[in-house]
Amino acid sequence: MKTVQTDVLIVGTGASGLFAALHIPKDRKVLMITKDEVEHSDSFLAQGGICVLRDDSDYDSFMEDTLKAGHYENRVESVDIMIRSSRDVIRELIGYGVDFAKKDGELDYTREGCHSKPRILFHEDITGEEITSKLLKEVRTRANVTIMEHVTMLDLVEKDNRCFGVVASDQDGEDCFFMADYTIFATGGIGGLYTHSTNYPHLTGDALAIALRHHIELENIDYIQIHPTTLYSTKPGRRFLISESVRGEGAKLYGADGKRFANEVLPRDLLTAEIKKQMEKDQKPYVWLDMTMLGEDVIKGHFPHIYERCLEEGYDVTKDWIPVVPAQHYFMGGIHVDRYSRTSMDHLYAVGETSCNGVHGANRLASNSLLESLVFGARAARHLTENWEKNEDPDIAGLAEETEKEIQKEKDRLPQIYREEVLDEIERVRKAR
Ligand SMILES: Cc1cc2nc3c(=O)[nH]c(=O)nc-3n(C[C@H](O)[C@H](O)[C@H](O)COP(=O)(O)OP(=O)(O)OC[C@H]3O[C@@H](n4cnc5c(N)ncnc54)[C@H](O)[C@@H]3O)c2cc1C
Repeated sequence: MKTVQTDVLIVGTGASGLFAALHIPKDRKVLMITKDEVEHSDSFLAQGGICVLRDDSDYDSFMEDTLKAGHYENRVESVDIMIRSSRDVIRELIGYGVDFAKKDGELDYTREGCHSKPRILFHEDITGEEITSKLLKEVRTRANVTIMEHVTMLDLVEKDNRCFGVVASDQDGEDCFFMADYTIFATGGIGGLYTHSTNYPHLTGDALAIALRHHIELENIDYIQIHPTTLYSTKPGRRFLISESVRGEGAKLYGADGKRFANEVLPRDLLTAEIKKQMEKDQKPYVWLDMTMLGEDVIKGHFPHIYERCLEEGYDVTKDWIPVVPAQHYFMGGIHVDRYSRTSMDHLYAVGETSCNGVHGANRLASNSLLESLVFGARAARHLTENWEKNEDPDIAGLAEETEKEIQKEKDRLPQIYREEVLDEIERVRKAR
């Protein structure tokens, strides 16, 4: 088996992985691997926006909104870190050329469910693409960072609870040992485990399965967010999200009788429950969403991609109601990490959706996840840099070979095995709660 050596290995090229890479000093070699094409991450799909502390007087309200949405199960320390870091993160993004919407020359803010005031920056309805493509562009200017596409992490290599890198399969199906002083898991969510999800299907929680096998601590892995409004379709594949900010701007939900049945800006879990109740009552696999009152200018100006996509499906949202249905959307739980994004295994960090730093508690507040991914991605990079320790062990090449031999025994079935192990554990935790 081939060995590739690097200083820092980042598994995943979404917003959290890219932002972490940008905070590793330029004299350290960084290798990023991704299972698919680099543009195929959920970070590219984010529509609504990214939260920011507007000014100091917004702190208490931002904190309360996040805690209330999270059913007060959040780690307050993590929320505090995220909120206090938000303005610096936004300044950095603007420095990389991210173009947030402006009104009269000033940043414009929108509002989504459960936010008591507008504090969300956005770029049309493709904020994730705007942010992540600019991060990617910046990463590509860095001579110390290499990105490898279609490379799938299969397992990690460890000794005495210390991570030495991962064994991954490249696009030719060849296994390779990516050996690193530090490894960062930035592998995103788990939507690929579900039939109806807004996520990319290749996001199947591989890091969780690997963590389980190596007794790395997990947290709240049964906390899975269902998005209340995705465009109803009978076609297979990813469900198209109708962003919460559509409802924040005033769109209404109706049952089969054409009457409103819920407050449209309820937290996601509560609104999902209301929609499911209504679907049950109506005996329909969807409810209706009416955006027409937003007017053509707002729809085409703020939500041009939702407008276009619905048109492709035969709905003109300036005139028609659209059928919407809840779908799996976000993963609040994950690999347990501390305030520096350290996992319970030495030399292994986890950032973004695959990690659980406690920011979201039992339910994520809309538009907090991009911010959380960036804040804690940067913190991982800074922490490992400031505490740098070479990772050396004479046995490691042999251990990597043994790890690979074990993988080979079940390689064809590995995705299915990992899938079952993660789903079983989610169920076990849910039942034990
Ligand atoms: C439709 C949609 C809309 C959203 N809208 C918003 C929004 O408006 N605001 C907001 O804050 N959040 C939003 N979110 C959530 C947000 O986009 C994600 O939580 C965030 O982008 C996650 O970033 P990440 O870096 O953790 O993971 P991702 O961006 O998903 O990246 C995961 C990476 O890991 C790689 N990977 C996975 N497994 C492996 C493996 N075994 N080997 C190698 N590589 C692997 C993938 O290929 C990918 O590169 C939205 C999500 C979706 C799906």
